[in-house]
Amino acid sequence: MRLRHKPWAEDYINENRHIVPEQPERWQGRWSERFEQRAPLHVEIGTGKGRFVNELAASNPEINVIGIELMESVLVTGVQRAADAPKKNLQLLQADVKDIGDFFAPGEIDRLYINFTDPWPKKRHAKRRLTHEGFLNRYVEVMNRGAEIHMKTDNQGLFEYSLSSLTSFGFYLRDVSLDLHRSGWQGNIMTEYEEKFFEKGMPIYRLEAALHQ
Ligand code: SAM
Repeated sequence: MRLRHKPWAEDYINENRHIVPEQPERWQGRWSERFEQRAPLHVEIGTGKGRFVNELAASNPEINVIGIELMESVLVTGVQRAADAPKKNLQLLQADVKDIGDFFAPGEIDRLYINFTDPWPKKRHAKRRLTHEGFLNRYVEVMNRGAEIHMKTDNQGLFEYSLSSLTSFGFYLRDVSLDLHRSGWQGNIMTEYEEKFFEKGMPIYRLEAALHQ
């Protein structure tokens, strides 16, 4: 992702602490209080500019949605979107997903989305892929027993790696698509990256993964 320095981003986020909680770990195990509704919790990791989470929350008021993004200068666009079209069921966290266990209690998450995450193609960087076993171990700590991971990517190598990593870990897969936009699958919400690849005519890979209960 091309990063532009946005000196105003910090101030803007500070002015919108109702969307970006200052100490997200304070809400661990209590997100339903923050949202003022008990509802299934869907979390996107590496949420980028937040188009996906904003649309997900707007079109599904019966769920609670959280987007996690490392980079302040990227997250701020998602915050602007949320401030322009307020939603009671959306929160955004500026955080590293490796710390996910600090923000959620065991079993608190019902669905995790991983959309167009960095592929880290070099073998020596495999541990950085967000579907590496090291990350999966952290996710399952905070996912409930029936929870699912939904993943989309344009990157065939990352997709093949993730199919293998998830099944080795004990997830079973369903609704695997090698060309989402020609598969007839309904209900897709485009991300920023997805739109770019879609416009170039590239196939989008998608999977759903769940743990055996
Ligand atoms: N999901 C968005 C989309 O599909 O348009 C953004 C995709 S972009 C390639 C990946 C994003 O993941 C970047 O914004 C990056 O900063 C974020 N990211 C990478 N590693 C992360 C981590 N460990 N924790 C949180 N966000 C991370």
